[in-house]
Amino acid sequence: MGGPSKKVSFWRSLQTKYALTYVSIIAAVVVLLNTYPVLLSQKLAYQSKQTSLQNQAAVLASTLSVGPEALTVESVERTISSLSVVGNTRVVVTDPAGVILYDWDDGLRRDTTGRYALFWEVAKALQGNDVFRGEYREGAFRSRAAVPITYRSMILGSVYLYEYDAAQGALLQGIQQNLRSISVVICVISLIMSAIFSRALTRRIAALLRAVRTVREGEYSHRVAFRGGDELAQLAEEFNELTGRLQTTEEVRRRFVSDASHELKTPLASIRLLTDSILQADHMDGDTAREFLTDIGEEAERLTRITEKLLRLTRMDTAPVQNTAPVDLRRVVEKVLHMLTPLARAVEVEVETHLTEEAWVRATEDDLYQVAFNLMENAVKYNLPGGRVIVTLRNLPPAERGEGRVLLRVEDTGVGIPEADLSKVFDRFYRVDKARSRAAGGTGLGLSIVQDTVRQHKGTVTVRQREPEGTCFEVSFPRWEEGGEAR
Ligand code: ADP
Repeated sequence: MGGPSKKVSFWRSLQTKYALTYVSIIAAVVVLLNTYPVLLSQKLAYQSKQTSLQNQAAVLASTLSVGPEALTVESVERTISSLSVVGNTRVVVTDPAGVILYDWDDGLRRDTTGRYALFWEVAKALQGNDVFRGEYREGAFRSRAAVPITYRSMILGSVYLYEYDAAQGALLQGIQQNLRSISVVICVISLIMSAIFSRALTRRIAALLRAVRTVREGEYSHRVAFRGGDELAQLAEEFNELTGRLQTTEEVRRRFVSDASHELKTPLASIRLLTDSILQADHMDGDTAREFLTDIGEEAERLTRITEKLLRLTRMDTAPVQNTAPVDLRRVVEKVLHMLTPLARAVEVEVETHLTEEAWVRATEDDLYQVAFNLMENAVKYNLPGGRVIVTLRNLPPAERGEGRVLLRVEDTGVGIPEADLSKVFDRFYRVDKARSRAAGGTGLGLSIVQDTVRQHKGTVTVRQREPEGTCFEVSFPRWEEGGEAR
């Protein structure tokens, strides 16, 4: 007893696994929540910046390319001042060599005229390319666009625009901040929930495990309390059901063993008593000794009967039915009748029969003999002088769908069985009238054997009181019919 009841390590425990799964799913969701929307809005902002800045540059460039003449500081200034340039944008115009002609930054003119515009974008634009470069850094969008100023495929110079946008950046940061707060709340809630759920789950599993161990230790009356209708509750219900059956089986087994030992003890005690009497008597005459020895013989015979029947019962419990064949129950009943006639005559009981032609049942002849013999012998044994036993054997036609049946009825006009005992007569070792059963050589096992045997051959057995007196047993089996097996 007391097998393994190891403690499950932390990392192997179901609770940890469950909580980890839960937490990793939430972590994945949170990471996604914090990256995808931000990246998407960055991309959208970037695209809108590109379009607007490149458009502005293009408009400026086309306004400046009025003719083949080279651009001058004055001409550029004149043209640009006629336009309204966007507020926080830096505007740089260069000649084909990259020398700055005009530099406007944040509402002010810069004093850079005549210097080289050392921007990568300008160099690219002067080679004839439209360039855009944007980046999001330190909470602000920085975008640069440059286009060449051309006149009939002649490059006259370049326009370079630079925009620093902190407002859009602030908006994006706001979104990010909100998402972060939401994530924190989700994380906290999910951690608490996972802790609660996993604890609840494992607590119930632990309760079930404890119950299994308790029952394993032999406490079959133990049951698990369960609530709800989930799988665990179902498992607990099944467990209780299983334990219930185990308990019943165990009780039956214990009762059987104790009853059996008791039944065996009684004749053994008698034998012991009788032998002691013989041994202790100094001068026992021959007749008395013979009488004692006859009694010993009878007790030994009773022991044999009991052990034979016990063996038969245990064999039926363990071995499945084998070698069944169609048997004519009528022939079996006639055999039993032949066997019982001397006994019936001795106790002045008349046996009356109403037997059909043939009644075929798939079983073994020995089993059918046991059933018929036990019922008919009881009907004679528990009868009164001058009483009757009526044995009826009939084939019953099939009910709506299904097979026909064979019915064996054994009625008697004997002592009868009280209503309260009717349901118990099939129990092992049960006797209504112990003294009478004993006197008649009964063991209390006959009807148990009848019931077990009948059930093994898919039959049924019932008992009821007979009007106006006596008892009526009825056994029915599925009827065997030629060619009917395939159905
Ligand atoms: P036993 O070996 O004692 O006859 P059974 O199992 O055959 O054991 O029967 C159990 C008990 O049922 C008997 O002891 C008897 O009290 C009662 N019984 C069985 N058959 C009859 C019957 N035909 N009439 C009255 N009592 C019966």
